[in-house]
Amino acid sequence: TSTEQPAAQPKVKSKNIDVPTVWAETTATRRPSAAFVVIGHVDHGKSTLMGRLLLDTGAVHQRDIDRHRKEAAEQGKASFALAWVMDTSADERDRGVTVDIAQHYFSTDTADFTILDAPGHRDFVPNMIGGASMADLGVLVVDANQLESGLKGQTREHVLLARAVGLERVVVAVNKMDGAVPSWDQHLFRSVSEEVCKLLTDTGFDRDNIKVVPCSGLNGENVATAPAADGPTAWVARSSQTLIAALDNFAASTTTPSELLKKPIRLQITDIFHASSQYPISISGRISAGTVQIGETIIIMPSSVSASIKAIDVADSPVEYAVAGQLVTLHLTADDVEQLERNVRIGDMLCYSSSPIEVVSDFTVTLLSYQPLLPGPVEVHIGRLQLPGRITSLLELIDADGGTVKKKPRIVKAGLRAKVKVTVDRALPGDVGNRVVIRADGETFGSGILSGLGERWVGAA
Ligand code: GDP
Repeated sequence: TSTEQPAAQPKVKSKNIDVPTVWAETTATRRPSAAFVVIGHVDHGKSTLMGRLLLDTGAVHQRDIDRHRKEAAEQGKASFALAWVMDTSADERDRGVTVDIAQHYFSTDTADFTILDAPGHRDFVPNMIGGASMADLGVLVVDANQLESGLKGQTREHVLLARAVGLERVVVAVNKMDGAVPSWDQHLFRSVSEEVCKLLTDTGFDRDNIKVVPCSGLNGENVATAPAADGPTAWVARSSQTLIAALDNFAASTTTPSELLKKPIRLQITDIFHASSQYPISISGRISAGTVQIGETIIIMPSSVSASIKAIDVADSPVEYAVAGQLVTLHLTADDVEQLERNVRIGDMLCYSSSPIEVVSDFTVTLLSYQPLLPGPVEVHIGRLQLPGRITSLLELIDADGGTVKKKPRIVKAGLRAKVKVTVDRALPGDVGNRVVIRADGETFGSGILSGLGERWVGAA
């Protein structure tokens, strides 16, 4: 016989909040917030800069860094102490699980931020597409002294991917300015900044949506605070904003259109984990439309398995409801927990049973091509969903306004716009308007908007 008490059940509040109204009423008092993805070539200082942001905003403590510094020094890598804060992600430590897209939180005087970090080691590109599609902005880190290596390497690819998933705003951190020769060389900054802006605008970013900031993640100059107003950094103190000021500005203009809140819930599942013994399954993702609240019952597509929402976290703090534009963790339960566990997968969509997302086996995408497109096998990415498929027909070439230029082309040359039919080998939960990225052979061939849903999927989900 067991003397164990039954586990205390978390208190479930009833579903009774008119979320869009409550959200609208509290708009004036709410702090701005934004999520950003960090991109850039390996070794350009991404992790160090993020460690610096977390340290200087008080999200991590100096004693944590010192502990890392000791470990790092023992391995002869003292300069990596700040970067290690990102590697041993709080997420992974606290939950004892590995997540593909780690989230770190920090707050400035005016706004709350989430860093989305897709670790480089495994499956980097799919994770980066997933991370970027959850982000409001991108932070592109460029080593001021190694621009060429970046342009030959991942800098260009990441910029293209960020644009391909529909990211519009970028802060460029021209990093390692302390290591320039001479240190904080203003001419170097100007030329790097011009080249990076050209890359971004050539890729389709609007110049007004790009902010460029010189900084040193390692020393912290011009990250959270302006550098010395005399000496080599005088020009920075005089003429540049800090990285945090640039982020704050973008956060202040990040809003959720109220129409979006009134739509039925859509949330693509980015990670699945066991947050605590209290809940059988927890999932995280960005709410792309609608709202959720504790006590609601939802279904997960394509399997249609149902679950109820026991608890909701935003930035690791419990909340009663959450809305479109927010990154959330939902703690789920179900009458048949095993069935739920068996059927929920990364890339699935969470919906109401009264307005489920359609599940199809083919679709039309209106895209811009980056490489010549022909019918044949491709990899389809919609956020975190990644499916094998094939381009089955090139329907038409179109102009920027969508007007037909040519029907049934034999090929879509790089740089042209087209409507293309794609068939997938697995069930695809999709909505018209979703961003689609088409890749093949490790390269991005095109990206655009899902513009038409095809045949309903009939096989097993
Ligand atoms: P990541 O691969 O882009 O995440 O780069 P890391 O943050 O791991 O940094 C790579 C190397 O560059 C490490 O040795 C860092 O100490 C060094 N580093 C990073 N930021 C700076 C900086 O602002 N100035 C200097 N001089 N070195 C830096």
